[in-house]
Amino acid sequence: MLRDDFPFFKARPEIVYLDNAATTQKPGCVIDSVTAFMTSRNSNMGRSLYPLSSNASNMVSDVRCKIASFINADASEIIFTKGSTEALSMVASSICKSRKKGNIVITELEHSSNYAPWLECCRRGGTEIRVAKVDANGELNAQSVTSLIDNTTLAVSITGMSNVTGFCPDIKGICSFAKEHGALSMIDAAQLAVHDKVDVKEIGCDFLCLSGHKLYGPQGTGILYARKEAQAKLVPLALGGGAVESDYRQKKGPEGFEAGTQNIAGIVGLGKAIEYLIQHYNEIKEREDELSGYLFESLKGIEAVRILNTKPSSIVSFTIQGLGNYDIGVLLAQRGICIRTGSCCAYNLMRALKTEGVCRVSISFANTKEEIDSLAKALKEVSNRYGGKA
Ligand code: PMP
Repeated sequence: MLRDDFPFFKARPEIVYLDNAATTQKPGCVIDSVTAFMTSRNSNMGRSLYPLSSNASNMVSDVRCKIASFINADASEIIFTKGSTEALSMVASSICKSRKKGNIVITELEHSSNYAPWLECCRRGGTEIRVAKVDANGELNAQSVTSLIDNTTLAVSITGMSNVTGFCPDIKGICSFAKEHGALSMIDAAQLAVHDKVDVKEIGCDFLCLSGHKLYGPQGTGILYARKEAQAKLVPLALGGGAVESDYRQKKGPEGFEAGTQNIAGIVGLGKAIEYLIQHYNEIKEREDELSGYLFESLKGIEAVRILNTKPSSIVSFTIQGLGNYDIGVLLAQRGICIRTGSCCAYNLMRALKTEGVCRVSISFANTKEEIDSLAKALKEVSNRYGGKA
C-alpha cells in the first residue's frame, strides 16, 4: 500500500488528514533524499569547482531534466521558483513591465495568487482586467473566457483545476484561442499537476506553474515553465548571484531567472517526489479515482450537506445549512479531522457563489476509505447536533 511509504501516518495515527490541496504529506524517500543531501552532500552550486559543489549543480540539473520530462518540456524551459505564487507573480509583473496597452483575461475561478498580481499590474500600468464569469455551479464555460479575448489581449491566465471544486476548464481550447489572437497564455497547474498528466505541448500554453509541496515534495519549491520563444517576454523578479554574467547582464536560459542561492535540498526532494509519482502513476490514478467516487457518494449520503461540485473529484467543497464553515472546521478538528474551511483564497468564486466560505475536503492516494468514513460519521454527528438552524 502506498500509504505505508508515508512516515507521517505512522507518526500521527490519530490524525485524519484531508487537506491535501493545501499541502501533501511526504513519502519517506523524499524526506530521506533531503536528509541525505544535507548530511553528506551539502554545498552551494554553480559557484565552485570542488566536487561537492559540482555534484550539487549536477543534482539540480538532473531535477530540471526530470521535471521537464514530467510535463513534456525541455530542461531549458524549467525555471525553479518558491512555488506557484512566485511563478504567477513573475509572469504578471513581466507583462506589467512591458507597459503595453491592452487587457488581461482571468477568471472567477482563480486562487488569489492568480488574481492579486494581475490586479496590481493593471492598477499600476493602466491595463484593463477582464474577469470571465463562472455559471451558477461555479463552473467555467470556455466561451465565457474566449468571448473576452480580442486582438488587444496581452495575456490570459487561468487555472487548470479549481482549488475549490476540482473543476477543470478547457485550457487547451482557451490557449489555442489566445494564440490565434496573439495573446500569451499562463496556466496555473498548482492543483492540476497533482491529479492529472500535464503536457505543456498538448495544452499549448506559453507559461505554466506548479508547486512542489502539493506534488509531495518540500515546501518552498516549484517551477515556472516558460516556452523557449516566450522567455524573451519574461522579466526576472530578482537579479544577482547565479543569474548574471561577468558584465552583470542577465544570463540566457532558466538560470537568468534564478538569482541567489537556490533551495537546493528542496529541489533534490522535489526530484525524488517526481520520481515517486512517475513510478507509481497507474496505482495513484486508480486509487484517487476510487477514493474520489467514494468521497462524493459518502457526502451525498448526508442530508444536511450541500455539495458544490457537480461531479466527483479529489477536491470537494460543501456547506451545511445552519452551520458556519469555521464552526464545522473546529468541530472536525476536535475529532482529529483536518479539512480546509473558509474562502480557500478564491474570493471571487465565493462572491459568485454567494457564500462567505466553504468546507473543502481534498484527498490524496494515501488516504483510506476508513478516513472518509470517519469524516462522514463526524459530519452526520455535527449536523444533527448543531445544524439545521438556517
Ligand atoms: N494556485 C492554486 C490553484 C492553488 O491551489 C495554490 C495553493 N493553494 C496556489 C496557486 C498557490 O500556490 P503556492 O502557495 O504553492 O505558491
